[in-house]
Amino acid sequence: MIQVAINGYGTIGKRVADAVRAQPDMEVLGVAKTRPNFEAETAIEKGFALYAAIEEREHLFEEAGLDIAGSVDELVADADIVVDATPSGIGAENKSLYEEYETPALYQGGEDADLVDMSFNARSNFEDAADADHVRVVSCNTTGLSRVIAPLREEYGVEKVRATLVRRGGDPGQTSRGPINDILPNPVTIPSHHGPDVETIFDDLDIDTLGMKVPATLMHMHSLNVTLEAEVDAADVRELFADESRLFLIPEHMAIDGSGKLKEYALDAGRPRGDVWENAIWEDSISTVGRDLYLFQGIHQESDVVPENVDAIRAVLGEADAEESIETTDETLGIGL
Ligand code: NAD
Repeated sequence: MIQVAINGYGTIGKRVADAVRAQPDMEVLGVAKTRPNFEAETAIEKGFALYAAIEEREHLFEEAGLDIAGSVDELVADADIVVDATPSGIGAENKSLYEEYETPALYQGGEDADLVDMSFNARSNFEDAADADHVRVVSCNTTGLSRVIAPLREEYGVEKVRATLVRRGGDPGQTSRGPINDILPNPVTIPSHHGPDVETIFDDLDIDTLGMKVPATLMHMHSLNVTLEAEVDAADVRELFADESRLFLIPEHMAIDGSGKLKEYALDAGRPRGDVWENAIWEDSISTVGRDLYLFQGIHQESDVVPENVDAIRAVLGEADAEESIETTDETLGIGL
């Protein structure tokens, strides 16, 4: 059994912990937190061993009546691998801790690409993680773009990608984020940083991205234009995507007109936390004009990177190949709406 430590038990960390626990070949050794908030409380209720991420704050957990299993150093020392899911920039500060105990580590999309040996997306470059000790699971947006671009490159060749990312202002729990009533070009400079991030997965890709922020918390929405190397029927692209387990094509009859109903569907389907691990592509939006392909896709920022973290664990430790790992992860989580 692979012993997994999770450092940072927030939006991403708590989802990764549940996903790791569902795997037949992995165990959650423990989760590290900085403060005894509601997530610490539920970690204990779920039976995860709770470790203090910052030693001087250990007493806060004791005062709140939460049992601490030890320090983050002990957790990292005993683990086969650490998933660092701390806020952007903290992962970089934690790297020396993982190096000290020679524990391989996964970082999240908020960290810089040059912190790590490679940037990871299961569908696109699983095998490249085999020789890496420090791996970055790319951001929610980069994951969503990579999952679409990989099969298009393999099947038709891609000349150029142009994407406009309409981004949620904040996650539902992020009360300090915004805008509350505005539509922001964000970042205002073009191209946005998302394109170069996708190039950490496909280094020879020509991609330009534009970003916006809107008063929404549920999901991001991508408006995508891919110039292919061949003229293709939209029906063929739909067929290609239908074979991809992490692309969900929303059929017209479902009458899902936006991210609100999509999340409602995920909740009705019994998904934990209403998570949508797949890219949700409106099937009717898939259109072609000559070599240009267009589509709209919803990206659930809180959860699409979760199966990618699970796969990255196996990729780094050499425990499975891409196909086996993706299949196991998909089956255990119930991916494929
Ligand atoms: P979050 O704020 O919800 O969770 C981070 C957790 O780490 C919190 O519980 C925080 O208390 C804890 N923490 C802070 N300092 C710590 C430390 N020194 N040691 C251990 N824990 C510490 O953040 P998140 O949204 O889960 O983001 C985590 C990472 O995932 C970031 O790199 C982010 O860019 C990336 N990411 C976030 C999203 C998203 O939409 N939320 C999507 C994809 C990737």
